[in-house]
Amino acid sequence: MKKKIAVIGAGAAGLMAAFAAAKNGNDVTVFEKNARPARKVMITGKGRCNVTNNCDKDTFMQNTPHGARFMHSAYSVFSAADTMQFFEDMGVPLKTERGNRVFPVSDKAVDIVDGLVRAINKYDVKLVNASVSSIGAEEGQVRSVTLQNGQTHFFDSVILATGGMSYPVTGSTGDGYKFATELGHTVTPLRASLVPVMIKENFCTRLCGLSLKNVKLSLYVEGKKKPVFSELGEMMFTDFGITGPLVLSASAYIDKEPELYSFKLDLKPALDTDTLDKRILRDFAAGANKDFINSLDELLPKRLISVVVQNTGIDPRKKVNSLTREERAKLVTEIKETKLSVLRLRPIEEAVITSGGIKLKEIDPATMQSKIIERLYFAGEIIDVDCFTGGFNLQAAFSTGYLAGISV
Ligand SMILES: Cc1cc2nc3c(=O)[nH]c(=O)nc-3n(C[C@H](O)[C@H](O)[C@H](O)COP(=O)(O)OP(=O)(O)OC[C@H]3O[C@@H](n4cnc5c(N)ncnc54)[C@H](O)[C@@H]3O)c2cc1C
Repeated sequence: MKKKIAVIGAGAAGLMAAFAAAKNGNDVTVFEKNARPARKVMITGKGRCNVTNNCDKDTFMQNTPHGARFMHSAYSVFSAADTMQFFEDMGVPLKTERGNRVFPVSDKAVDIVDGLVRAINKYDVKLVNASVSSIGAEEGQVRSVTLQNGQTHFFDSVILATGGMSYPVTGSTGDGYKFATELGHTVTPLRASLVPVMIKENFCTRLCGLSLKNVKLSLYVEGKKKPVFSELGEMMFTDFGITGPLVLSASAYIDKEPELYSFKLDLKPALDTDTLDKRILRDFAAGANKDFINSLDELLPKRLISVVVQNTGIDPRKKVNSLTREERAKLVTEIKETKLSVLRLRPIEEAVITSGGIKLKEIDPATMQSKIIERLYFAGEIIDVDCFTGGFNLQAAFSTGYLAGISV
């Protein structure tokens, strides 16, 4: 007889789990509290959905700062190549862009959602629009799922895939943490990751909206000389601080008191200190009678100039031909090492992912089954695994979802 399987949450992980379980001959029901499935997937990759990263296992692991070891089996069973094959099979052609990021050729996240829905429909999965309020267990075994309308349904196994806490408008409001703790599981501290950062220096407000490309951002923790994060890329100033790909990635490293961290922003990473100094000297020579404030047009974006000049403490009206070597050195330092002190992270609601979740020691990594309650499985962001940007988080959801699905 077919086993009855419940999946709670029709996000990336839940839909993949449902597909895998149904393909293996089970009778699968997915409960989703939103009228439409995978609302979060719809907003991924700015609506384009960076669905995975076309990379090997080692690269996936390097981009999984929390839980890489735990992910070995899941990734081996369902890798990035499998994700790509899955979507191609479901009629969603994909393309690989810079940094091996994979997107649908259409640049439309809805096509990824449609691919997932097509996959579950192919195997007659029932998608029920209902909010789950608890999971029932007896004698250490999962038994049932109770809905908010009071109905209780009985199942052989339950896959819990309710996601994290970020962007709650998409349905991820952390319900699954409550269900799991009620059954005896531990939830490690939850915090925002891949999130914009609030900065103490108030010049950020003046630069609000300014995007920088090809800059280097390094993150330092108090007392350490070596940066904990240092990468080239894009970032943007906002009224509260900074955001953009570099900042989101760096935020994953802010796991102590935020005020212990500060950034150094290198506006000219392609030029070393000497080369930059020579370049400045050339620019100054070309306009020897210019005021300092009017001498950096060739070097920096217009809006940045007044901030950089102010940060040097040099009189903006000073003629460049009278700037001393020390003053030039100050300018070079300011351009190569603009300091941005972390005030705090933006709230979890604005984070791309939730760091923390169901404790890894309580889940069997070979099956995704709970070690506390038999026949309870976990998939996706609810697990204490998190990855960097680049398609790795959706891949983690697909890998754990698929493994849970075939394991039931
Ligand atoms: C703005 C943004 C952009 C992102 N871009 C990318 C990207 O380009 N690439 C990438 O790899 N990752 C990206 N991510 C991260 C990625 O979206 C998540 O890691 C992934 O969606 C997690 O999948 P999940 O299935 O575990 O959880 P979710 O997608 O959050 O799905 C959980 C589902 O469970 C449902 N649910 C919750 N509680 C209940 C309940 N009580 N009853 C019934 N249903 C319930 C929710 O409604 C939801 O549909 C992005 C995230 C955000 C916020």
